Amino acid sequence: MGLNICVFCGSSPGENPKHMALAGKLGQLMAEQKHRLIYGGGGLGLMGAVARAAHEAGGEVLGVMPDFLSEIEKTLTEVEHVFVPDMHARKIRMYEEADGFIVLPGGIGTLEEVIEILSWLRLNLHQKPVVFLSDIGYWDKLGSLFNDMIAEGFVPDAFTADVQMSETAKDAIDALRLRIENPVPRKDLRLSVEEHS
Ligand code: AMP
Repeated sequence: MGLNICVFCGSSPGENPKHMALAGKLGQLMAEQKHRLIYGGGGLGLMGAVARAAHEAGGEVLGVMPDFLSEIEKTLTEVEHVFVPDMHARKIRMYEEADGFIVLPGGIGTLEEVIEILSWLRLNLHQKPVVFLSDIGYWDKLGSLFNDMIAEGFVPDAFTADVQMSETAKDAIDALRLRIENPVPRKDLRLSVEEHS
């Protein structure tokens, strides 16, 4: 069954050409496996690379673009796209459309988008899994920070089941599918980590 996969990623290409190559690989594989790509709608950087590759391989794509950014981020008009009034509307639309999230390398915007999804996950507002993807360890320090947060008792252990790291596009999609098809039973919302255990 095809999944609706939201991809967060940089609007820049990054210095290392491997980032763009991986974005293209992910888009292509998603299309081949009949998954639908939901993304921010831009034509630049990794965003453009993942969407073009998915589209060119015959995949379904939905871009969600705030009106004011259309010129700056060069809306990719050859794929299905919707315009929304602002960043909040963009994020909520991407969230609603998605069964899960893959996070390619990116900057502040990418981080902002995924952190909000993770904070909602932490509050049990949803169970949509998140997989960070890089073949050159771009997200390793963030992964270490998450581990420190767990070790220090600020984040429950259960967090690791829904948030994963992967190095290939195939592994990222497989991890997402596995989690979506086998959701972990959640305890009731507990804001304190102590109460979780
Ligand atoms: P960056 O990683 O900074 O290149 O940004 C990646 C994408 O995230 C770009 O399309 C940004 O416009 C987008 N972005 C940045 N901040 C937000 C936000 N608060 N809500 C939704 N999208 C955002």
